Amino acid sequence: MRHITTHTSPATGLRGIGDTNWQPRGACHGMDPEDADATFFPLPRDHEAIADAKELCGLCPVRRECLNYALENDLKEGVWGGLTAAERRPWHDGLPRRLDYSRVIAFFNGRDVHLTEAERQVVIDHAFVRGWRPDRLAAALQISAKHARDLLRQAANKVFDRDRTLGVPRRKNAKKTAPGKSSRSVAARPATRQPVSRPVVLASAHAPLGKAA
Ligand code: SF4
Repeated sequence: MRHITTHTSPATGLRGIGDTNWQPRGACHGMDPEDADATFFPLPRDHEAIADAKELCGLCPVRRECLNYALENDLKEGVWGGLTAAERRPWHDGLPRRLDYSRVIAFFNGRDVHLTEAERQVVIDHAFVRGWRPDRLAAALQISAKHARDLLRQAANKVFDRDRTLGVPRRKNAKKTAPGKSSRSVAARPATRQPVSRPVVLASAHAPLGKAA
């Protein structure tokens, strides 16, 4: 079952994509818009306004959600989660490499969580190892079947390269072709497992990332 996070859903440790239900619990909620702008979007050297914003954020119960929201939505201006734009810069730069397995597990449990590139790659690798078909991965990542097929091929090539580098012997096919049946008829059947024994030429090495990236 797929859980849809809405504005009225109870608070959890993980936000869904586009989930802003934490905002009414923010310490800045209900501020006059002009005051909020002056406080949370100060000039770089307006130390007084920055100190005011940090003081308010320090009391805020949704500081973590606020910071994650800014990072995931690439909001590089202003104070979010108690950090100024300059203080958040390393976090913005490092976000694609964030690997939080609790988010990956939540994804597999059907939550619409925001995945970084590293977390998304774990999902693709898992899909390849578990023999997912392209349409299943496409549905999970909300991408096209062609894109999903390309990603699975890339995962297959990665495993092949790794095994070749490490000198892992190639797996022999457990099932041999039955006498009288040509290899063509076997190949024509729908695959039930992902091939891992040889590299595949990529149809698109620069396919666009999907929604869940
Ligand atoms: S952390 Fe600061 S900016 Fe974010 S909701 Fe709380 S008070 Fe507002």
